[in-house]
Amino acid sequence: MPATVDEKRAFQMVMELMAIPGVSGREGAVAAYITSKLRAAGAPASAIRSDKAHKKTPLPGEVGNLVFQMPGTVRRARRLLMAHLDTVPICVGAKPVRKGELVRSADPKTGLGADDRSGVAVVLNTALEILRRKLPHPPLTFFWPIQEEVGLHGARHVQLSLLAKPRLAFNWDGGAAEKVTVAATGGYRLQIEIDGLAAHAGGAPEKGVSAIAIASLAIAQLVRDGWHGLIEKGNHRGTSNVGYIHGGEATNVITDHVELKAEARSHDREFRKQIVGVIEQAFTDAASRICNTDGKCGKVRFHARNDYEAFKLAGDEPSVLAAERAVRAVGLVPERAVSNGGLDANWMTAHGIPTVTLGCGQMQIHTTSEYLDIPAFQRACKIALELATETA
Ligand SMILES: [Zn+2]
Repeated sequence: MPATVDEKRAFQMVMELMAIPGVSGREGAVAAYITSKLRAAGAPASAIRSDKAHKKTPLPGEVGNLVFQMPGTVRRARRLLMAHLDTVPICVGAKPVRKGELVRSADPKTGLGADDRSGVAVVLNTALEILRRKLPHPPLTFFWPIQEEVGLHGARHVQLSLLAKPRLAFNWDGGAAEKVTVAATGGYRLQIEIDGLAAHAGGAPEKGVSAIAIASLAIAQLVRDGWHGLIEKGNHRGTSNVGYIHGGEATNVITDHVELKAEARSHDREFRKQIVGVIEQAFTDAASRICNTDGKCGKVRFHARNDYEAFKLAGDEPSVLAAERAVRAVGLVPERAVSNGGLDANWMTAHGIPTVTLGCGQMQIHTTSEYLDIPAFQRACKIALELATETA
């Protein structure tokens, strides 16, 4: 028998959750909403806990990760269900309205925040259904991490002891309900500072070293050699992007400082490192080619940080097989997917908790056209309950 859920109640809850503002670092109101719903359904206060992840993240936050633990009614491996609390800034002020089978924000200037409040609702609804109906279940951990959108920081800094060593783990974040994401790329974040020499652009340009010229040469070389944007070298694949460039104040001064931010991604760890190396080399080379008449050239300070490691779950990983069984149990055909973006699952898997990511109906995320597909959300609620109550 496939799991049944109170669809009306679940829908009402996702509508309420999407209306709560809560960008990364300001997840307090969302966490309070979840806590009050759990308490009202009979969850003991001692089972609802939070960690201090927000003290370890670069962005100072209001609250830590939220965790609710349930001892099992049957002796089986512990399962974890999770979805991130935060939304991107474009979603602040969202006014969710239903139009047929979809929900959009009534305000055309905001996104909806279904990323990831639909996931938050799926996970919370599962806990509430079990509490209210006293359904049999394995030991469960419900986990709502903070600050996913700004670099997966909640999942990265989670206090692992609160999660109580789950063997299987499921994360709801994005797309169709039958999508089972089993792998995701890894990514570096790069910070590049170029120092040149200031000089009067009309009076003594030959005495200056233009940081803008250095940045331009470096980027031009990366583009020309196929190391910017989509990167395909032999059978290696990756991407890179210079996404931020800032420098200069006036046309009559040779610019002595430019700051850039860039990223590099690949599922292949070694190739990802190679992309970073090529980018660094391009800037270093460019700096050595722009020199003044005294022989002084530019300087580059390059900082690269591996933001999240790529992962790929085995085809017979218990989390993968359970997710696919649950998708089939609600009458859908599971679709294995690979993500070219980082997910909280990257950090969970790095922590030794192999985590599958499933969809929960949010579409065109991070844009003002974001919408929630209500039937997909309802199916995700059933799949989650199926996963949380599989006792055979
Ligand atoms: Zn998300």
